[in-house]
Order: sequence, then C-alpha cells, then structure tokens
Amino acid sequence: MEKRDYYEVLGVSKTASQDEIKKAYRKLSKQYHPDINKEAGAADKFKEISEAYEVLSDQEKRAQYDQFGHAGPQGFGGFGGGFSGGDGFGFEDIFSSFFGGGGGRRRDPNAPRKGNDLQYSMTIEFEEAVFGKEKEIEVSKDEICDTCDGSGAKPGTSPVKCSQCQGHGQINVTQDTPFGRVQTKRTCPVCEGTGKEIKEKCSTCSGRGRVTKRKKIKITIPAGVDDGQQLRVSGQGEPGVNGGPPGDLYVVFRVKPDSRFERDGDDIYYTLPLTFAQAALGDEVEIPTVQGKVKLKIPAGTQSATKFRLKGKGVKNVHGYGIGDQHVIVKVITPKKLTEKQKQLLREFAEISGDIPEEQGSSLFDKLRNKIKGD
Ligand SMILES: [Zn+2]
Ligand SMILES: [Zn+2]
Repeated sequence: MEKRDYYEVLGVSKTASQDEIKKAYRKLSKQYHPDINKEAGAADKFKEISEAYEVLSDQEKRAQYDQFGHAGPQGFGGFGGGFSGGDGFGFEDIFSSFFGGGGGRRRDPNAPRKGNDLQYSMTIEFEEAVFGKEKEIEVSKDEICDTCDGSGAKPGTSPVKCSQCQGHGQINVTQDTPFGRVQTKRTCPVCEGTGKEIKEKCSTCSGRGRVTKRKKIKITIPAGVDDGQQLRVSGQGEPGVNGGPPGDLYVVFRVKPDSRFERDGDDIYYTLPLTFAQAALGDEVEIPTVQGKVKLKIPAGTQSATKFRLKGKGVKNVHGYGIGDQHVIVKVITPKKLTEKQKQLLREFAEISGDIPEEQGSSLFDKLRNKIKGD
C-alpha cells in the first residue's frame, strides 16, 4: 500500500504549527477511533492518523520527514505494524551514515513493543448479525513459548552477550562508495540488534521464543452489526515483544444475504407479491419480519410499488441508537399462465372496464384534467 503524505493524512499544511497538528489529530482520532467507529477501514485510518501524528508532533522526526519523506533514515512507520504483520523497520543502508548521524538514534531492539494486531474475517448468517450471538473462533497465532518462557534459550540456560558485537547490537562496517570510504554502523546480523545471543536454543520453539498455536477465542457478535463492520477484541493479537502489551484482534464481519430480506443500515426491505385480485379488492396478509410474522391490511386498489412501513420491525442499532423499520414494497404479479375459465372471466372484466386504465385521483394532473372535463 502506498503511504499517504503525513500532512495530507492530518489535513494540515506543511507549515502547520504544533498546535494545529495537535488539533487536527484530536479531531480525526475521535472520528476514527476503533472503539467509536466500527466501520470497515476505520481502524486502518486510525493507525494512519496516529502514525502521522507520531512523526509530525516530534520536531526532530518532522524535520527528517520533511527532508526525506517516508524513506527517512529512521524508517518511519513504527506504529505497531498493522495488519500486515511486518514492522517495516530495518531501513539501514549507506544513506543512514551520511544523514541521520550513523545510527545516532536508532530504535532500541530491547525496548518493550506492542504485539502485532491480527485480523480475522468471519462470515455470519443474516439473523446472527441482526440478533447477535456468542461464537467461538479459532485463530492461528503466535504465543509465548511455554518451555523457555519466551527467551528462546534452552531451559536452564540463558542468552549470553553476543560474541559478534560484544553486546552493543551494532557492528562497524567499512564500505567503498562513490564518495570515498565510509565507516558505517549496522545492526549486528548475529543478534539482530539485541546484543544477546542464544547458544543453546530451546527445542520447542527453535530459539524464536514463541510458537504458532491455534487458539480458540470466544467472541460476541454485537446485535445489529452490519456487513464489513469490525469488532476489536482487545489483547488477542500477537504477544508483545520484550514484555510489551499484546496486540489486538480485529474481527471483520461478512454477513450472508437473506433470501427474503434486504438490509440497508437498520432498515429492512421486503417485497410483497400480491395477485391482481388482492391488490384490487384489498386483503389482509401475513408479512414475515426478522421479529416474527405480522399482519398487514392491504387497502382495496393498492398499486404496485406502494410502500408500507412496519415501524420498529427492523434491526436494533449496533450502537444502541433505537431500532430500524421494515419497509414492505408491493409487487403486483401479472399471471403468466391462465386457465380457459380465468381467461374468459378476464375478457368479461376487460369488456366492462374498457381498455384505458383508470387512474383514481393519483396525481394533481389527473385532478386538473378531471376539472377541465367537468366531472
Ligand atoms: Zn522456547
Ligand atoms: Zn550481536
């Protein structure tokens, strides 16, 4: 995904003051916070906003961003890692020694970090979305290895000081460049910057400190949830690094369509087929709703596309803001097959009615026309 300009993300100018940046961030984060906004994409948006703010609110990071953009020497993009799982770091090449001062301020690999967020897509039935339900899902995710407690070292042993970098986490590299010989610091390839080396690896996790497990998680589908909305299950993402908090799990709901009902927000639409006789003479019919059957009186002379509203027979709002309605749309069905007797009766009916459809006072135009005609 192409990264958007941080100023654009916050909707401020390049010359915006710290105050303006803070204001823009407050406003947007309120709008897109995953606890408030359950719309699809809100969490991503919130991350984008937070990341932009993290950089632009820091004078030093902002100055570097202004100069180098997203490919800055410190590798911006350190907001949790998002759904992709990669943490976007490791941007360290020859340029980091020219600018940025040779690893002067690098991210501490031993600092506590929040675990990655996970995303889980869940297909649910139409009714489950309307009424909510408790469900168990199985998610494949990393967990701290029980055998070594996450250290990656064989039980009874501990990680030792890295022999390659003597625990500094960085090594000096001399490189020939078009600008001459340059000494640069690089992340130690043996310990990956942690300064620690595992001599005897834990056999359960092969030194990773974590193992991938399938974990069952109970979730509650919120009543009224709609297709594409997501639920944040706090702390059920991947474990944190160096004692940091775990990430979150985002469950995105895919709602299966229903054969009878169509949903639009909290309202439900239902097409009611009526015979010509029912529509012309009126009737009382049973209408299915998500809350059970209700009776509806069809007045005589009902036209196709007439709408009836069954108040409060829709979906309970997911945020608790009331309840939707069910809209019933009449569809008068013209019979395709007729028996001889039906044909005969219809011919008789047609003879009495004449062949110009009579519209009963349906529009102002008709009323005017009738007035002019004098009846
Ligand atoms: Zn282990
Ligand atoms: Zn090392």
